[in-house]
Amino acid sequence: MKVTFPRMGYLDIPLRSILQDLGLTVVTPPPCTARTVALGTRHSPEFACYPFKLNIGNYLEAFAQGADTILMAGGSGPCRFGYYAQVQREILTDLGYQFEMLVLEPPRGQIDVLLRQLAKLTGHPDLRTVWRAFRLGWEKINALDALERKAMATRAYEMQRGAVTRLLAKAVKEVDAAASVLETRLARRRGEEAMAAMAKKRRQALRIGIVGEIYTVLEPFANMRVAERLGEMGVEVERALFLGDWIRTNLFLDALGLRRERPEVRAARPFVNHFVGGEGRESVGNTVLYSKRGFDGVLQLGPLTCMPEIVAEGILPRVSRELGIPCMTLMFDEHAGEAGILTRLEAFVELMERRRRAKGERSEGGKMLSGN
Ligand code: SF4
Repeated sequence: MKVTFPRMGYLDIPLRSILQDLGLTVVTPPPCTARTVALGTRHSPEFACYPFKLNIGNYLEAFAQGADTILMAGGSGPCRFGYYAQVQREILTDLGYQFEMLVLEPPRGQIDVLLRQLAKLTGHPDLRTVWRAFRLGWEKINALDALERKAMATRAYEMQRGAVTRLLAKAVKEVDAAASVLETRLARRRGEEAMAAMAKKRRQALRIGIVGEIYTVLEPFANMRVAERLGEMGVEVERALFLGDWIRTNLFLDALGLRRERPEVRAARPFVNHFVGGEGRESVGNTVLYSKRGFDGVLQLGPLTCMPEIVAEGILPRVSRELGIPCMTLMFDEHAGEAGILTRLEAFVELMERRRRAKGERSEGGKMLSGN
């Protein structure tokens, strides 16, 4: 059995680590490129969402390297995600591939469902092996999230252009190579310290929060590296979504039946008070939370035709108006062009700079008036 899975940000690193430690042979699809897009779009329905097409491209590239088993997440809810795995299976079967597809469904309070699904994949390794594999994988997830957070917080202040991105790549490689929890922690600490040492904060940079559909937010190829580009424009970036947080809520707490209402869901309530699929409601709630924390703007990312993000996009102008926070939406598909994305980012940053200057002038005026 040679297992593969779709790429999404740094997910391949902990997942490969866990599966290999459980004794499986893993074929990681190569990073997404124009070839992945071409393969995915050629064999997907035209109106399928962009992540669906990239997944198909990933599978085909992994099949070419010998993969014969796909591990995919399942889902339910108002959007199309619940059908992803089934439709992908049909497409690949029609293309003549012979493979197994294992769909990990959300456990919904039943931990035994999750464990049975894993046992089906791995046979029945002893509990010690399972614990060790997951312990290390979880440490890697947390390390990668922390390194990404640090990179987004420091890139705006780097003393040498591109230095933080290079340090992040080096640290990610070290986390990937780490063979124990201790080695992972050391790689994380070294990476965080190196990035902090490269940053010199002379003034508070503009702060932008990124919200949106999870795949587009996490996968830099799908969003054309917007977080990195904003950082290089001198903007401090914070992302509302990280792999670790998502797994904690949607797998662990859900499996144990301990899932509680999250702050972003509560914050969204005046604007949208029911689940709209994907991360649509969270996009609204996180925008509210960023506004309360004094961020200069919010960037919403999603794939073109993503229903939950379209719902959120329709609500965000009201949030923006009522809470006074600028919001911009970028939707991606195989036709999105880098130049257009860059121009829109630059215009958004300029708008926020002007707002900040205007605010500064107003408060200067206010001080003078009160001084008189
Ligand atoms: S959340 Fe959006 S991108 Fe994801 S499956 Fe649903 S519609 Fe497609």
